[in-house]
Amino acid sequence: MTTPAEAFAPAKVNLTLHVTGRRDDGYHLLDSLVMFADIGDRVTVRPADEISLSVTGPFAEGVPNDARNLCWRAAQAFGAPVAITLDKQLPAAAGVGGGSSDAAAVLRAMEAAFGRPAPVDPLTLGADVPVCTVAHAAHMAGIGERVLPLTMAPIPAVLVNPGVSVATPEVFAALASPDNAPMTPWPEGGGTAATLRWLATQRNDLQAPAIACAPVIAEVLDALKGADLARMSGSGATCFGLFEDAAAAEACAAELSAAHPGWWVRATTLR
Ligand code: ATP
Repeated sequence: MTTPAEAFAPAKVNLTLHVTGRRDDGYHLLDSLVMFADIGDRVTVRPADEISLSVTGPFAEGVPNDARNLCWRAAQAFGAPVAITLDKQLPAAAGVGGGSSDAAAVLRAMEAAFGRPAPVDPLTLGADVPVCTVAHAAHMAGIGERVLPLTMAPIPAVLVNPGVSVATPEVFAALASPDNAPMTPWPEGGGTAATLRWLATQRNDLQAPAIACAPVIAEVLDALKGADLARMSGSGATCFGLFEDAAAAEACAAELSAAHPGWWVRATTLR
């Protein structure tokens, strides 16, 4: 490797998240339709004598720059020393898979830089890392290891984070029942309207427990009530509003940004 390599780490959005059981080892079984935004973090890897990490960008504060960071662990797992730069554009501990998407991006960048596939099972880095290596619409199941890429119509969306971070283990601890119904079959190859109709019949089982941990999430969902569908992603606190029309998503984002200057609000397209 002689030149730097860059990779984009898109925000991951769980359009549905059904918690369908719990294994004896404590891992939760999930059934989730995942799509990715056109906004996200950016990672760069450069040749170096040892692994290092520099975190920049609007959400750099509080993000670890050592082996606690999934970028670092991805480089370690790849087995080559690189200097990593992480431009943190996504809020952390926000339910949009920041760390997982960053780890997958480091693996992609290192594969490009070293010209060989990553010799690592992405699941060993985290439950969301396998789906983040796909980085476009997919059905995720099991504890995250089963990933089936899907062809879905792109969906205009608004992502909103109210600035509170939510710890995933706390949300799972507040989950009343870990044994809920799986998703019903989604409309394969349908348009955006058909997908939205189907999504309205599905759930995020972590939404109620996350609201119990961070009541402001209910305010965010209320602020998104003009969307065709509003729901929380992952274990929160980021919520999304979905729209059939990109102009409506842009208008909603402009309105919410003006009304809530402290919130992180972005219009995007999910793919
Ligand atoms: P998910 O949607 O997969 O549950 P999340 O978006 O809720 O993930 P992350 O942004 O991955 O959560 O952050 C969770 C914790 O992981 C943070 O509190 C942080 O300490 C740690 N962390 C490790 N690597 C990273 C990273 N690259 N970016 C942000 N946080 C990271």
